[in-house]
Amino acid sequence: MTVFDDLVGQDRAVAVLRQAAAAGAEALAGGPGTGMTHAWLFTGPPGAGRTSAARAFAAALLCPDQGCGHCDLCHQVSIGSHPDVEVVRPQGLSYSVKETRELVLRASGASTLGRWRVILFENAHRATEAAANALLKAIEEPPPRTVWLLCSPSPDDMVTTIRSRCRVVTLGTPSTAAVAHMLTTRDGVPEIMAGFAARATQGHIARARRLAQDEETRRRRDSVLSLPRSLTTLGHCVEAAERLVKTSAEDAQEATGHLNESETSELRKIYGEGSTGKGLNKGLVRGGAGAIKELEDRQKSRATRIKRDSLDQALLDLAAFYRDVLAIQFRADVELSAEDHRADLDEIAVLSTPEDTLRRIDAVMLCRERLAANVNPQIAVEAMTVSLWRPRS
Ligand SMILES: [Zn+2]
Repeated sequence: MTVFDDLVGQDRAVAVLRQAAAAGAEALAGGPGTGMTHAWLFTGPPGAGRTSAARAFAAALLCPDQGCGHCDLCHQVSIGSHPDVEVVRPQGLSYSVKETRELVLRASGASTLGRWRVILFENAHRATEAAANALLKAIEEPPPRTVWLLCSPSPDDMVTTIRSRCRVVTLGTPSTAAVAHMLTTRDGVPEIMAGFAARATQGHIARARRLAQDEETRRRRDSVLSLPRSLTTLGHCVEAAERLVKTSAEDAQEATGHLNESETSELRKIYGEGSTGKGLNKGLVRGGAGAIKELEDRQKSRATRIKRDSLDQALLDLAAFYRDVLAIQFRADVELSAEDHRADLDEIAVLSTPEDTLRRIDAVMLCRERLAANVNPQIAVEAMTVSLWRPRS
């Protein structure tokens, strides 16, 4: 077993990372260390495992056996408690220049073990332009043993100046068979369920796992996939849109509600609220109000992002549904992602033309673009459900 075992269907990337980790060990021992570099960009479609790959590489750099997978160091990196690995996870829609400067400052500290200091930056493309500039400076002039691992969906999501200074590791979409195999062997999911979850999520590992293990997730997907055949009147279109938007808001609430509460009470404790107030100086009280306001803004931004991601996931499920319809209309011999909704797929395939289906897929994609451009979700989704009902009008 090694730290790279968790990377499903990514043999080429793993070979590159193993080689670099070996070169890194050589460099630490005073050798040339050719093949090791201090700035990396991990890219690949959502769910392919960018962060897992970067994390495995971090473990391989810190573990004396280059990622054995069972020593304390490997374990600490995998659970996120190793002092030399900092994982940056932008919580909101963007990452500010202030946060980046603080990060760059921390990154310049020495490693506690005398090996590498690793900064793993998830969704690095969320850095604002000013933040990207601050990041660029840090990558241009890195302290000798600091390694930057940036993750973004594609190299094009990062500004050219940063991209050109990074070695790019590209992850591909893992095959359905590889994901199903991982679910059965590693998570003990029964074969039929594993096959279903892998097919339905089309190579998105985390989603496949959730779908296989969580009934609520399966129920939500079912409700999204039963939407197409429910669109028979304008009233139903409006209702369906409302339901989709509401479900994503519930998702965000469920994912963040508890976290928000504990963060806020933690911060209030730091600033002494809940005590009698005696002995608190005014400056501290003012500072507390500012910090709480800042935290609330961050929480709001995080909720917005989760709401958006959840809605986007529903739209991707819908797009996959219509792609299945198109495959049936063309009698293409491909795996259907919504095989479990076969009756609906067949019915819609018979009642419409391939041109209709293409227009419907366009409508879903247009809705995604509008949401990304901050159009009011209710309006964007309603426009989509109406186009799904009558693709030609
Ligand atoms: Zn190890």
